[in-house]
Amino acid sequence: MSDTPRVFAKVTSDNRARMAQSIGLYPYFAPIQESTTSEARIGDRWKVMLGSNNYLGLTHHPKVLEACTQALHRYGSGATGSRLLNGTLDLHETLEARLAAFYRKPAALVFTTGYQTSLGAIAALMGRDDILYLDKLDHACIVDAAQLALGDTVRYPHGDLAQLARQLEKAPEGAGKLIATDGVFSMEGSIADLPGLTKLAKQHGAALLVDDAHALGVLGEDGAGTARHFGLDDEVDLIMATFSKSLASVGGVLVGPEDVLHWVRHHARALIFTAAMPPASVAGTLAALDVLQAEPERRTRLWANTRRMAEQLRAIGLDPGPAQTPILPVTVGDVFETARVWRALFDDDVFVHLVIPPAVPANSCRIRLSMTAEHTDAQIDRVVEAFARAVRTHAPRALAGAGS
Ligand code: PMP
Repeated sequence: MSDTPRVFAKVTSDNRARMAQSIGLYPYFAPIQESTTSEARIGDRWKVMLGSNNYLGLTHHPKVLEACTQALHRYGSGATGSRLLNGTLDLHETLEARLAAFYRKPAALVFTTGYQTSLGAIAALMGRDDILYLDKLDHACIVDAAQLALGDTVRYPHGDLAQLARQLEKAPEGAGKLIATDGVFSMEGSIADLPGLTKLAKQHGAALLVDDAHALGVLGEDGAGTARHFGLDDEVDLIMATFSKSLASVGGVLVGPEDVLHWVRHHARALIFTAAMPPASVAGTLAALDVLQAEPERRTRLWANTRRMAEQLRAIGLDPGPAQTPILPVTVGDVFETARVWRALFDDDVFVHLVIPPAVPANSCRIRLSMTAEHTDAQIDRVVEAFARAVRTHAPRALAGAGS
């Protein structure tokens, strides 16, 4: 008998990550030693950061840092307990009140991470006779919630509302229905068809939950997200958002009707059985929300940077997608071509994400960029030059349409 426990057998049968490491094409877990809002130092090289979700560039804002420091000294380094027991601070409640007002919803509930927010809320709401409807490109926090939730899950092809309508029609009489969708799809950078989804939800008596992680601070009047972007605040029942992107912290929030949130507060295991969001993070989030509202010009700069980057990438013959949001997925080619382009960019001090299967089909792998308000024109121009060099050398077919 082998000494290796059987449960470990899988760890030697899949060596893709080790293979990628051995040929220098491994893009994950690179430790950052120091950072600014638009650059990160890895080893002794400063790289332009195009892989963060720091859309408004608030991670190093003096007001945010000051608020974190003050909270650290007033409340200590950790909440040391669950929201339910000893972990709720007055700051959590202040943040909930601010976010309920921001989203024009009656109530808000703050969780320790965005991931836990969807997980906890969806699992708490779904009963044995209920059906959860998911877009195939929904974020993992919704997909994983479906595994925890009671009831059935139905997944519809990305954005295929005709198919969703057919599936809703098939639901047994009396089944509770919850549609959960990303507001902005994080790999595509595209915006969900909320007008279509709210209409379907209403027709079929379904509730609609929108994961607005990438829309907070980016879309809509005041940066209040996808529902505000479409003027559909009242039609979207529940909005979930994270503090780990535009708000430069960590944590998540669910907003919606008071009675629904009261239920979630007392039934969400991902809220009750984990420590509360730490004091410095709550204070930092509150300060970031202040800055978001006081400095709307940050959003203007974010969009200007997004347009500049997308236009320049198109000008050299690349396809950065529709640029509906600051997420630009640049289609390159197969896995190896795209990985070599990623590596060339990394060596040229440009930090971007490599997107490969199963996230995307094998022949349309991508380099994913996300812009911040703090990128300078000079940085954007330098990144585009690096792209041109990398793609010309490693994936010239990606430039085929440009005639360059
Ligand atoms: N939803 C979406 C669409 C996301 O992109 C993310 C984070 N990548 C999350 C939820 C989870 O948020 P957090 O990192 O705050 O846990």
